[in-house]
Amino acid sequence: MEQSKLQLFKDSIATVTDVDALIAALQTERQTSIRINRLKINELNLPKVPWCETGFYLEKRPVFTLNPLFHAGAFYVQEASSMFLEQIIKPFATRPLRVLDVCAAPGGKTTLALPLLPEGSLLVANEVIKSRAQILSENLVKWGYSNSIVTNNDPKDFSFLKGFFDLILVDAPCSGEGMFRKDDDAISEWSPENVDLCSKRQLRILYDVWDCLAPEGMLIYSTCTFNEKENEDVVSRFIAENNAVCEKVILQPEWNVTEREKDGAISYRFFPHKTKGEGFSLSVIRKHDGTEYSLPKRTQPSGNIASFAKSFQTYNSFLTNDNQLIYSDKRNILWSFPQEYQQILCEISSHCNIVHAGTPLVELMGNKLNPHHGLAFSIAYNADSFPRISVDLETAVRYFKKEPLSLPQAEKGWLNLMYENVSVGFVKNIGNRANNPYPQEWAIKMNVDYSRLSENCIE
Ligand code: SAM
Repeated sequence: MEQSKLQLFKDSIATVTDVDALIAALQTERQTSIRINRLKINELNLPKVPWCETGFYLEKRPVFTLNPLFHAGAFYVQEASSMFLEQIIKPFATRPLRVLDVCAAPGGKTTLALPLLPEGSLLVANEVIKSRAQILSENLVKWGYSNSIVTNNDPKDFSFLKGFFDLILVDAPCSGEGMFRKDDDAISEWSPENVDLCSKRQLRILYDVWDCLAPEGMLIYSTCTFNEKENEDVVSRFIAENNAVCEKVILQPEWNVTEREKDGAISYRFFPHKTKGEGFSLSVIRKHDGTEYSLPKRTQPSGNIASFAKSFQTYNSFLTNDNQLIYSDKRNILWSFPQEYQQILCEISSHCNIVHAGTPLVELMGNKLNPHHGLAFSIAYNADSFPRISVDLETAVRYFKKEPLSLPQAEKGWLNLMYENVSVGFVKNIGNRANNPYPQEWAIKMNVDYSRLSENCIE
């Protein structure tokens, strides 16, 4: 960082922490961490992230792209500090919740929240940037939960859901000071003017979604930046102007998380010179007024949702969970989605741009039925639906690279590929080769040295 900029940065955080210690920590290697999908893989023999039951630190950063379990949603690569969110969601999630993750791509907080929500919960994961909403959708299909809807909208587009959500996550776009050691762009884009711009945008996002929060609902505001303008100042101004208060989070002293209070705002700060993680700040805001949501009388599907035909219900057998509604999208893909949220799905489809909702099952092509590649990742996939075949590391990587496979010993027809007991995909075995329908846009693009694949395993 150029000297004049560095001084401006130092000045902006001088009241927040020991600036020299922070800058020294930013020069060191960052720590790699992952969070496992407990419904796909078990415990790992690695050091744990203390504030997240499914979080682990890795000794070095492997090439995750060459690990089939990464593609199959068996783990998510997430910076450890962000996993602190578990400490807030877990005690709050004592009943089914309706959750809005309004700045959700690429899906780190969403994939953390989903396993913590009791059955009967619904999560709407939104991302305003179209290309990022596609990545969010891919990551959520891979994570395998059917009770989520991915939308591509501006935060203010949710105003029709007044009082609907019990929990809103605003993991706000910020000046990214916490990313300084990870990302050269974050350094070159930093300026005091950008900090001001970000804080205005953050306040606007809070205002945009506040009406959607139910009375006694909770909003979690977070950034990966150190300065006060984008953290405590945004929160204190917001709670002063609304009927809201900040809540405390129970901390363990050995975590070295810093609790700060300023003008009514309470924040939990992760500084890399004190805590084993990157820069992160989080505040919990409770709402005390407002009205509960009431569903409009008539709701019709629209947008990408084509039909809820009764005949689709036969495809329920591909899943082990009950109470699923099957719908068709405009590309003739059948999806399963929680029955109890049918009306709200219709309502959201008529106001928002739905990228996907639920779990993909099959693609209907005339009178042919092809299992959808996303069905393989569902945590509720009925393993008896198609014959299973276990494959080795190289074959699994070739599958995710979208290469045709050769499975001469296997039976013909659709097969479910398993790698280390995790379902990774489907191929159609025609004898001399097996056709690979994995989508090109999700496929591994890099050149692969197949002799060194095992270097990228996580244990
Ligand atoms: N929650 C994500 C996760 O854990 O993986 C990270 C979110 S990132 C910090 C902030 C997101 O906000 C980005 O995906 C960005 O595209 C989006 N964003 C940018 N401008 C926005 C705006 N004006 N309103 C809402 N979201 C915005």
